[in-house]
Amino acid sequence: MTFKELRLNPSILKALNEENYEKPTPIQAKAIPLVLKREDVLGCAQTGTGKTAAFAIPIIHLMSEEKKSRDQKIKALIITPTRELAIQIDENIKKYGKHTDLRNTVIFGGVNQDKQVKAIRRGVDILVATPGRLLDLIGQGFISLAHIKYFVLDEADRMLDMGFIHDIKKVLKLLPKQRQSLFFSATMPKNIVDLSKQILRQPKSVTV
Ligand code: AMP
Repeated sequence: MTFKELRLNPSILKALNEENYEKPTPIQAKAIPLVLKREDVLGCAQTGTGKTAAFAIPIIHLMSEEKKSRDQKIKALIITPTRELAIQIDENIKKYGKHTDLRNTVIFGGVNQDKQVKAIRRGVDILVATPGRLLDLIGQGFISLAHIKYFVLDEADRMLDMGFIHDIKKVLKLLPKQRQSLFFSATMPKNIVDLSKQILRQPKSVTV
């Protein structure tokens, strides 16, 4: 299996080539075709397996195929528990999408919000966020989730361990019903499976 066989947009293939990604990792080979078919995905995978690219690459592909409108509407939201993960995901999206005209940014707590608000005001297609700062900026009216088409919940088990369940539920209430959702967790205990059922529609499961 090669990235080319996944029929990804040439601009993404070019970026992957520049990153010296030779072939998809197992989670990528399984998940990318499902996301491209617009399936919801329940992914069981640890950090280090290439799971970021497994969700980021096909979302960038689908978004870059869509009619471009340089509006202020955020169309993809990725939530993750920590600042470090959020920054990493945002950096990877920047790499994979560097030959597209998609705009991405990252928001997280513990720092002044002004730079983050400015970036959002300039217009963002893909937003990576930690839950607290996301709700904070929504509450202040800087962010709307009304136009989200792609939603990713990353590291769901860590999210619950860190006590983010109420924040996640608040975010879910603000998401459009019509959307594609991807859910990743390193472990799948019952509370995680239950949460996934509140988010995903007829998901396809992927395990590595
Ligand atoms: P992740 O599991 O998403 O944190 O990714 C782990 C590391 O593997 C990151 O540094 C990625 O840049 C790298 N990586 C992801 N997919 C590939 C691939 N197909 N080929 C080479 N490196 C990759």
